[in-house]
Amino acid sequence: MAYIEPAPIKDKENPLESMMSRFDAAARLLGISDEMYDILKVPARQVIVGLPVTMDNGAIKVFEGYRVIHSNILGPAKGGIRLDPAVHLDEVRALAAWMTWKCAVVDIPYGGAKGGIACNPREMSAGEIERLIRQYTVAMLDVIGPDRDIPAPDMGTGPREMAWIVDEYSKAKGMTVNNVVTGKPLVLGGSLGRTEATGRGVTVAALAAMDKLRMNPYRTTAAIQGFGNVGSFAAELLHERGVTVVAVSDISGGYYNASGIDITAAVNYRNSNKGTLDGFSGAEKISNEELLALAVDVLVPAAKEDVITDDNAASIQAKMIVEGANGPTSASADEIINSKGILVVPDILANAGGVTVSYFEWVQNRIGYKWTLDRINRRADRVMKDAFDRVFETSQRYQVPMRLAAYIVAIDKVASTYKFRGGY
Ligand code: NAD
Repeated sequence: MAYIEPAPIKDKENPLESMMSRFDAAARLLGISDEMYDILKVPARQVIVGLPVTMDNGAIKVFEGYRVIHSNILGPAKGGIRLDPAVHLDEVRALAAWMTWKCAVVDIPYGGAKGGIACNPREMSAGEIERLIRQYTVAMLDVIGPDRDIPAPDMGTGPREMAWIVDEYSKAKGMTVNNVVTGKPLVLGGSLGRTEATGRGVTVAALAAMDKLRMNPYRTTAAIQGFGNVGSFAAELLHERGVTVVAVSDISGGYYNASGIDITAAVNYRNSNKGTLDGFSGAEKISNEELLALAVDVLVPAAKEDVITDDNAASIQAKMIVEGANGPTSASADEIINSKGILVVPDILANAGGVTVSYFEWVQNRIGYKWTLDRINRRADRVMKDAFDRVFETSQRYQVPMRLAAYIVAIDKVASTYKFRGGY
């Protein structure tokens, strides 16, 4: 039997340490006790499973799967499942804790979790992925559940995988349980508005930040790194609100136009060009590094983690950074960014629009009723705006950057809830 060893930790900032350094700083400011520190730091549950899967050629391969529930103090745990060759326990633990803080910041009644399977979905057939996902679901039957731990898509998974989880879980329970996951296909209880929810939340956060800095959106420029789900919807919606999006980028590089990129044309081009902007005309070609250093008002990193580091932070000229991606700014860059007076709307706040609408999906499944898109957008915008105001007010009160303030809001909420309910 071939065994796939999970890939070693990549040579970059350790995501767990990066998250913990911010957590530590906020915990110190809040003055939480050592006991509470340990309760909030140590994951509630960490599960590692071996998943034997029959491949198309008849051979059996064993994959390693993970599920970490960081906290279930606020409610059932929530977090995606990623399929990636580099997935490892440290990363899953960091992402699970991130989910705890993200849900707490936007005040939705969930704890945090994350899952992963070390595999390369690009080299697997749909049938192999389906068997792997079904194996994972069976292995996690006593971990996941609509009132316990609710997975969702992440890197390498989408509505198709969520539908397989619903099916496998429902078989085991002898009834259809569609709220065991969110991010499902619409016909299987998915929610309207989920696809654009994260980009929409990024836009709400950016507009709220502009308001605080007394910036008029109609006289504001933005550069957006990453033109996938989050980046392209943020670009469309910011443009709709009057912002001039002068640069966008994806894995093929950056595209700059001082008088504004035609976002609709860029989206249409990407959709007809195998998902990339490669060859997009109507803009000057620049590099992703150059995009980050543009003299714009708003920079939205919406591609991947660790793109703003202590190597390039000094070159950033934007007045604000709104983090669409998870962990785009490494902890080592925080100080440089802060000393330049750049307002950072941190990931756990700025990209929480997605988990908010996932929560709405779960609520709709529970009540057995579908909300209109208009209702979903209105409620999601309100959640994001309230969260922004809470974090901004905390940053003023403690005289700290918004990233630290977001952690303070989140840790305070989870710690005070724990004090009321006690251990579980
Ligand atoms: P996606 O795969 O749809 O898009 C990623 C985009 O980034 C693509 O355009 C890709 O070409 C580009 N990209 C990849 N590597 C790049 C690089 N080195 N330089 C520049 N561009 C690069 O992914 P997504 O769903 O939009 O997620 C983007 C980020 O947002 C991730 O960090 C993800 O974890 C985070 N996020 C996503 C959601 C969501 O609902 N989709 C929610 C919260 C956070």
